[in-house]
Amino acid sequence: MIDTLQIKTTKTSHSRLGETDFNVLPFGKVFTDHMFVADFEDGEWKNFEILPYGPIAMSPAISALHYGQAIFEGMKAYRLPNGEVSVFRADKNFERFNISAARMAMPTIPEEVFMQGIASLINIDKAWVPSEENYSLYLRPVMFATDAELGVKASSTYKFVVLANPSGPYYNKALKVKIETHYTRANEGGVGYAKTAGNYARSLHPFAEAQKEGFDQLIWTDSATHQYVEESGAANVMFILNNKLVTPAVGETILNGVTRDTIIVLAKEMGIEVEQRKVSIAEILEGAKNGSLTEAFAVGTAATVTQIGSIGYDGELYTLAEVSTRTISPAIAKKLNDIRYGLAPDQFGWNWVV
Ligand SMILES: *Cc1c(COP(=O)(O)O)cnc(C)c1O
Repeated sequence: MIDTLQIKTTKTSHSRLGETDFNVLPFGKVFTDHMFVADFEDGEWKNFEILPYGPIAMSPAISALHYGQAIFEGMKAYRLPNGEVSVFRADKNFERFNISAARMAMPTIPEEVFMQGIASLINIDKAWVPSEENYSLYLRPVMFATDAELGVKASSTYKFVVLANPSGPYYNKALKVKIETHYTRANEGGVGYAKTAGNYARSLHPFAEAQKEGFDQLIWTDSATHQYVEESGAANVMFILNNKLVTPAVGETILNGVTRDTIIVLAKEMGIEVEQRKVSIAEILEGAKNGSLTEAFAVGTAATVTQIGSIGYDGELYTLAEVSTRTISPAIAKKLNDIRYGLAPDQFGWNWVV
């Protein structure tokens, strides 16, 4: 990548680093000292700046608030044993960001703006990258529509912001999930494959209902028949069924997860057979009953690999094999973590040292 971007830098006069307790880092709550911002105006990206993290003044008429043109990404930077910092597969997040942008009638972003924005933020806030096991710096690029007018149309101006959030482990227990057969996250012809704000807004009420029933998370099903599983919350879902790794094939209704893709590559490399196809609720429940379903887990950047302990469907709870008996997903998760933290050779060139 060529260093073409002119970035204006304004450093904070007071770093919050010393006041931050790195032993208490709930996901998404603590931000580093700075943020990267850029504007899209007159058909081009401009005003590249590193600023102290903080409020941005804006009109309450901006169209992102009214009509929802807003997309984001999520990726992580890891501290390597030699002290350097590496971002995992950022090229995939860049690609997906522009896929989301195109679907939401938003401008795409040039690779150097996305990548150099991230690199410049990490470099100025490098001391914020944790070095404890299972800790990382979560990076959140977001783009939203800023035209201050109420006509329903694609905005002509946008803001791109990158935030950084030091974070610790996400979930630490096996989840009790509910297969959702009324509400849906996505539908054919919709925006399920885009990482766009409204997909998360629509999931919050169903999630709250499931929590009231004692579940930790949902498994979404297809909107047409509710017979096939799609995702688990904001993560992809995978099963070990008859010793094969089985996962729903991605399409219009399923987000194409970077962690999902990575795990498929690693599983194949480890000699595990992988099936990407439609996965029916019936075969999952049957597998839970007859023991051929030995593992179930959710995969995503925020949560990495999270074990599913039990599955609720139609008022019945299916308890899966004890997490301590599972071998395949923990082995893949270890391999993935070792690469990300620089403890194993990066044979696929996934680590981008910034
Ligand atoms: C972000 C996300 C995932 C996981 O994607 P990763 O690239 O692995 O982080 C899966 N499903 C949904 C709906 C998501 O928003």
